[in-house]
Amino acid sequence: MNILNIPGIPTTCKNCGSSKLEWFDAVRNASHAVEGRLRSQDVRCWFVIGCSECSETLGTLPSYLIAEAMNEGPKARPLEEWHEDYGCVVWFTWRDGEWLGEPSYIGSPICDDWPGYHTHFIPHPAFPRNPE
Ligand SMILES: [Zn+2]
Repeated sequence: MNILNIPGIPTTCKNCGSSKLEWFDAVRNASHAVEGRLRSQDVRCWFVIGCSECSETLGTLPSYLIAEAMNEGPKARPLEEWHEDYGCVVWFTWRDGEWLGEPSYIGSPICDDWPGYHTHFIPHPAFPRNPE
């Protein structure tokens, strides 16, 4: 699940093709201190994305990139960059130097109900976890 819209995060497993991916955290030695002599300043937090089906590790990100993505929010891309391969996305209208303050439109420019005035999009959010 790529809820932060960080480019390059896999959405399927390169090993088995599953889309059941999970994030988990880990710490790594960021210094030259040997195990057993580490202090808190010697370790850094990383986020790892792995496959729930086959346990393949698909990518790692240092925690500061996650923090940056959370602080910045998703980057809106202009209509001109949209392509059919993106499918349905979330649309907004940038007008007169600000976001038009109305609810977003979810769909694509080839939908029958395309309003025709949206200027920017972000990826559609991931589906939530399965209900209990
Ligand atoms: Zn897998």
